[in-house]
Amino acid sequence: MQRHAAIWITGAFRTSPSGGAESIAGLIPIHLHLCKLAIRSSYQVSTLPSNHALQSLLSDKFSLNSSPHPQSLRFLTLAKKAKVKGPIIDVDNSLSHLSDSFSPFSSESKPGSHLMDIYPDSIHFHPCNRLDKHKTYKHVSSLNSVFSSSSSNRNCISVVTDASVPLVGSLQAVLVAHLYRGRRQVSHAKQASGQASSTDAELYSIRIGIAKAISLQCDHIILITDCLPAAKLAVDPSIHSSQSQSIQVCQLLSNWLATKPSCSINFWDVPSKWHWKPHLKVHNDITSTSIHAPSHTGATLDFLQHKSTNDCQKSWESTFWKKKYRGNGFLLSKKNHKFLIPTYIKGGMWLPLTNESPSLCACMTWAILNHALIGAYRERFFPLKPKSCGCGHRLETQHHILCYCPLHPIRTQWVQCAFPQYEFLVEFLKKNPATFTFTNHDTHPPPLQAPVPAKPNEGELYSFISSLLFSLESDLYV
Ligand SMILES: [Zn+2]
Repeated sequence: MQRHAAIWITGAFRTSPSGGAESIAGLIPIHLHLCKLAIRSSYQVSTLPSNHALQSLLSDKFSLNSSPHPQSLRFLTLAKKAKVKGPIIDVDNSLSHLSDSFSPFSSESKPGSHLMDIYPDSIHFHPCNRLDKHKTYKHVSSLNSVFSSSSSNRNCISVVTDASVPLVGSLQAVLVAHLYRGRRQVSHAKQASGQASSTDAELYSIRIGIAKAISLQCDHIILITDCLPAAKLAVDPSIHSSQSQSIQVCQLLSNWLATKPSCSINFWDVPSKWHWKPHLKVHNDITSTSIHAPSHTGATLDFLQHKSTNDCQKSWESTFWKKKYRGNGFLLSKKNHKFLIPTYIKGGMWLPLTNESPSLCACMTWAILNHALIGAYRERFFPLKPKSCGCGHRLETQHHILCYCPLHPIRTQWVQCAFPQYEFLVEFLKKNPATFTFTNHDTHPPPLQAPVPAKPNEGELYSFISSLLFSLESDLYV
């Protein structure tokens, strides 16, 4: 089914290699996609309430004090558990890597008890439009003036937070909060948070920043972060990765806002690229710190789900490097001096440059897969038909057309490389629209689809059976 979709998207032939067409179309092999969904859903079991049927089947550690089912993993010895295979065992093993805990029915997430519903006038967000430089400049200027004016207010505390997620697996995510009162830094907090996604780590830093600010006695908090989505998650007690941190923030702010009606908190977004001075200081503080993770450090839900997605993507990449998958004639190309590798994000790597025209997309697919109506194709499937190039070359091949053929003079040196730059290859196909197309050297109208080489005798077999039936019928009539 996926093969049909890939052929429909790219315009490839019915005989073209599935792997190559899938890679160009940005469709991950279905078994990898299912594997990703299965792993990601196994982590979701941790978000179920304790009275859910699945919880009664899990081992002691993850059953949330639910009464055990007679077939529960709790009754299996370690030796037996090692021998059993199945989805419940997979879920139990997956949950052992998770550090998050979830409360589906916490009092803060009940309808009518949401922090944002109770104190809508006391909590404000100031997003920054990062796509527009002028608007960003105005936003940072406003933040500057707010930060300066807050220095005269002794009841106001400014909190600047940041977090770093190391690329090295043996290190933990680190989060920092610097607290200012009257332009003077009065406190700071730094903590490790195990293996966490960047949004989770930013959420942790916001939680410790708010907790510290409230402990310092103030009526107004200005929290400055470079990740406003994390700030919005911090006041959202519904189920999500690091929900426990959000519930703590909701409890802290709820108690604090209840003490005085004048209390308020403002979340300001600041792009880290603008190197706003107090934020740059936090950023430098955090990047100079690295904390090693002890063995068996837990990870957040978001981190584990991202990891499963990345693992499936890496499996696809390693499969792509096998010629058997992508096809023997697949033309490897480069972008910014790196090989194009398949991905399903943002329409894949090949399609975005050719989405202006379906015929260009089909032409690009034929050129890359080396499955086009050229001499090399005729030599393989129609050996009696001419296979030489219109320029007089003995055999019209993909390499000849791209590198040497004088019939297609508009080319750049990058197309002539063994691994051409992809954008130049597309440019070449745009400037030479007759290449790799049916009308190239064919006087006959093009066939709708290429013949299937694996079933050459199908027609003969069919005609043989038909003739047999016909002769049987005529025998009967006689
Ligand atoms: Zn030629």
